[in-house]
Amino acid sequence: MLPTFSYVKPASIGKAIRELTTPGARVHAGGTDLLGCLRDRVFTASKLVSLSGLPELQGVSELSNGGLRIGALTTLAELAAHPLVQRRYQALSEAAGAAASPQLRNQGTVGGNLCQRPRCWYYRGDFNCARKGGDTCYAKEGENQLHAIFGGDVCVMVHPSDTAPALMALDASVRLVGPGGSRTVALDAFFIPAGKDHTRETVVEANELLTEILLPPPPAGAASTYRKLRSRGAWDFALTGAAVVVGLNGKKITHARVVLSGVAPVPWRVPAVEKELVGHELTDGLIERAAAKAGLGAAPLSDNAHKVALVRGAVMEALSEVRAAG
Ligand SMILES: Cc1cc2nc3c(=O)[nH]c(=O)nc-3n(C[C@H](O)[C@H](O)[C@H](O)COP(=O)(O)OP(=O)(O)OC[C@H]3O[C@@H](n4cnc5c(N)ncnc54)[C@H](O)[C@@H]3O)c2cc1C
Repeated sequence: MLPTFSYVKPASIGKAIRELTTPGARVHAGGTDLLGCLRDRVFTASKLVSLSGLPELQGVSELSNGGLRIGALTTLAELAAHPLVQRRYQALSEAAGAAASPQLRNQGTVGGNLCQRPRCWYYRGDFNCARKGGDTCYAKEGENQLHAIFGGDVCVMVHPSDTAPALMALDASVRLVGPGGSRTVALDAFFIPAGKDHTRETVVEANELLTEILLPPPPAGAASTYRKLRSRGAWDFALTGAAVVVGLNGKKITHARVVLSGVAPVPWRVPAVEKELVGHELTDGLIERAAAKAGLGAAPLSDNAHKVALVRGAVMEALSEVRAAG
């Protein structure tokens, strides 16, 4: 059963920010993640601030620099089907289309997808785990087949978003608006590593709104893709995924960004793979060498060593895909 809270639907961003200054107020976008957390008492809310009265947070538009502005309330279904996103930012269109189920993609927004809370069964269950402020990460010694193989020092949850790795690979930034004005944060700096603060996933403050996502123009000769590996094809969170963006000059790679999902508390960028790729032609040999680097430094838990092979496979398939598209 849901706890008791008040519900407001402000008609401007300024009014929404003022409503969010109430202690315990929370942003309500599509509600697909938030309402489950409230129902299961993962956390509480004194007030929900609905964004549904803010049409300026919706839709995708082209920027004068050739980039894209994506309103935070754009649904995952809209993002996946948008012609410009499909044509120029394929990794994002594929990631949005691979998230959750058709019903959830029609309701869930991209802003909510970036700000969603962990799916770890201990966090979502009746455990006062480290992420909830306790002193134990129960997954470390417990059921951990879906958990992190990278960056899990204090908490081994994996970041659940599919759009986050794609947006990070595409070098996106987000605009956050709060009582003191607005700030733009690169997605590289948006997610908080567990070793820095394991009780928060993002830099968004309680009284801030994520209003839009900004994408730069794709690099010259760009090709991108998101490869998601999951237990069930119909819908499931990523066991692991790989978002790959390459820029090509002829056959030579001039730019590469590779970000993994499902393997760390934050979307996990793999600079060793990127370094291996730049300056070379995307041959079978290079794809194998680069994919082998993706698993370096992994620290599997008792039940998830299979993820190391999955990471390599996801990167290999994603690189083969961009070669075919380039
Ligand atoms: C069964 C199921 C399966 C799923 N599978 C996947 C999957 O495979 N891949 C995947 O990526 N996701 C998956 N999800 C998560 C789902 O995609 C996200 O829940 C959805 O995108 C969240 O968007 P929303 O608009 O519903 O967010 P909400 O539920 O409204 O909000 C989520 C969180 O973000 C905050 N928030 C929302 N918007 C903003 C904003 N603009 N500014 C600041 N804070 C904000 C809210 O306060 C809340 O804490 C799944 C969810 C369910 C229930």
